[in-house]
Amino acid sequence: MYLKSLELIGFKSFGKKCTLEFSTPITSIVGPNGSGKSNTAEAFRFVLGEQSIKSLRGKRGEDLIWGGSSEVPRSNRASVKAVFDNTKRLLDIDFDEVVIERVVYREGTNEYLINGSKVRLKDVSNLLAGANIGASGHHIISQGEADRVIVATSRERRQIIEDALGLRVYQYKKEESLRKLEKTEENRGQVEALRHENIPHLRFLERQVKKLEKARVLREELVYAYHEYLKHEEDHLQFERESVAGLREEPSREIREVGKRIENIRSELEKTKKGNKESEALLTIEKRLSELRTEQTTFARSVGRIEGQISFEERRLEDEKKKASEEEGRPISYSTVRSFWDELTLILKERDDEEDVDMLKKVLKEARRTVAAFVGHHLVKTEYIPDTSILLRLQKEKEFAETKSVDISKDILEQEQRMRLLSEEIEKEKDESREIERELFTLIAAQTELRSTLAKLDARESTLRRDEDEFKREIGEGIVLIGRQIQGYKDFVPKDDHTDLGLDDEKERTLQTERRRNLEKMKIRLEEIGGASADEITKEYTEVKERDEFLEKELVDLEQSAELLRKLINELEKELGEKFTQGLTEISTQFNSFFALMFGGGSASLTLSEIKRKSKSDVDTMLTDGEIPEEDDTQAGVDISVSLPKKRIQSLMMLSGGERALTSIALIFAMSQVNPPPFLILDETDAALDEANSRRYGDMIQNLSEKSQLIVITHNRETMSRADILYGITMGIDGVSRILSVKFDDAVTVAK
Ligand code: ATP
Repeated sequence: MYLKSLELIGFKSFGKKCTLEFSTPITSIVGPNGSGKSNTAEAFRFVLGEQSIKSLRGKRGEDLIWGGSSEVPRSNRASVKAVFDNTKRLLDIDFDEVVIERVVYREGTNEYLINGSKVRLKDVSNLLAGANIGASGHHIISQGEADRVIVATSRERRQIIEDALGLRVYQYKKEESLRKLEKTEENRGQVEALRHENIPHLRFLERQVKKLEKARVLREELVYAYHEYLKHEEDHLQFERESVAGLREEPSREIREVGKRIENIRSELEKTKKGNKESEALLTIEKRLSELRTEQTTFARSVGRIEGQISFEERRLEDEKKKASEEEGRPISYSTVRSFWDELTLILKERDDEEDVDMLKKVLKEARRTVAAFVGHHLVKTEYIPDTSILLRLQKEKEFAETKSVDISKDILEQEQRMRLLSEEIEKEKDESREIERELFTLIAAQTELRSTLAKLDARESTLRRDEDEFKREIGEGIVLIGRQIQGYKDFVPKDDHTDLGLDDEKERTLQTERRRNLEKMKIRLEEIGGASADEITKEYTEVKERDEFLEKELVDLEQSAELLRKLINELEKELGEKFTQGLTEISTQFNSFFALMFGGGSASLTLSEIKRKSKSDVDTMLTDGEIPEEDDTQAGVDISVSLPKKRIQSLMMLSGGERALTSIALIFAMSQVNPPPFLILDETDAALDEANSRRYGDMIQNLSEKSQLIVITHNRETMSRADILYGITMGIDGVSRILSVKFDDAVTVAK
């Protein structure tokens, strides 16, 4: 025996606790009409998880709770406990005894418990399904419901048969898999949407990263270009420094000697001039020339110095302009515009009705002043004009020094001309005594020559200084652009060795100018790419990319699980189909023999209904009627066909009440025979049977009780006689149902 007992507290008419023990194969429940017999059958449905209150003859959960009478107050909860012997592990749970309990409260909430632990309805359903017991299953035949299996549609009938065959588990599993599949598809949709959302950002970052890569390559190129340029420049400067110093040595020494000699001759001539007018003139010219040349050197130097200052000033102004141009296009903040607007509104406020022209003019003037001030303020910001006064002053100074220098050169030329004339005059005299003057001429000519050589060296040196400054400046700028790496130029090794380092010729300088131009171009290109922080972008890119990859993987995983679920559903459907077809054949055979037994002949069978493909016009009618045509018609329903002995009937509907009851019983018993449920509850299934059939019914339940425990609610004496235990249910004036064990002889009386 699997079912041990049923305990009812506050359930329907069971206002007080009652327990029914089921220790024998057949238990019969008897009692007068309205005493509460059917309530016990419903208590079974209830505790096994029935969700339709209507099928428990109520409207709300509350209707299932003892409603009270004048003697016994109403209850707040109804509870039913079903106790199972589980030593044979009928239920898939590791307990020898399993107590399933359901409680309903007045406000409608339900509680489910397995061995005292709260569980979900689903847990109860799953546990029972595994044991071929269900809430509204085939094994609880309620009063008047016996022919349910006959009046049901062929599809409903299929479900009842599936239930009876214990195939509900497959349905549950299939439904669960379908739910999971739906959830998986939903997740997939979400993940896809997330990925889709992520894409523009990812693409943006990809572009940034590419740009950064470009910048990195360009920067590397720039480093190389810098090193190459600076290395050549340094070599050139070194070469220049050495050559200028080397070339200066001899003329410097010579000019010192020539100077000394001229000095000596001058003092000699001072002593011997004695009224010699040529000598006197010669000395004057020489003195003047010497002064002029000193002056010229001073001016030449000052031109050089001013030129240096000018180029510095020009660069400074250029930088300032550049900085100012960066300011241009910078947006004006909203708060600035807002406060300007507020100011303007304040001036113009409530002047709409002003009629005094003078007043209006005043307001207009004030408004214009405010607008001008705003525009003016921001104009200064955007159109920056640097102060060039210093540059202009320097240019003037240079101009002055140059003019001076030109004037002096003219004077020098004049003096030299005079000296030449004088020298010719002296030459003509062919006087031995003029030897000293001749030497002076030669020396002055030599001095002129040497001075010009030295002046050229001076110019070269000043260019050198400028180039040295430029070199230092270039390194400074390089540090800003590429950092300490700039110092690497010292160890520069050319990529291709046909570049001649240290070769200082015109060709090399042209090449160097070309390199310089290239360097500037690269700097501009690098600036254009912009200075986004490489670390930040790369970090963000990696993160976003990783997220995308994660989502992609997630999609693959979800697709895989969806595929597995689809496969599982297919397998379940296949297995269900196979088991169903086999079970149906078996039930049909049993049905046929029970039917023949009940009717003393004839035949009955179960067949799969033909799948009727809906015609297009049918579908259209359904759609216009607001119905949704069922797509899945692969699951055919089950049809019943019967043939009574000596009668020709076309439809089940043509059977008499008794015949219908017999047919139903035959089918119910056939189902129980093929897959015996642990217990079977029959609520007045025998009501419509005549004496002869009651006997056959009695034989059959006895036969069935070998495989299933039977609980029969009955008024039928024959049925009662087959029971091992009889419970009488009575209801006193307090409206509470009570249970008492009765003997067979008393039962007949109790039942009345
Ligand atoms: P019959 O032989 O006529 O089929 P029965 O013994 O099966 O009768 P039930 O239908 O089980 O009788 O019981 C019906 C009785 O239960 C009614 O008297 C009804 O008033 C009572 N009843 C139903 N619900 C409640 C409730 N919530 N509280 C109190 N009594 C209830």
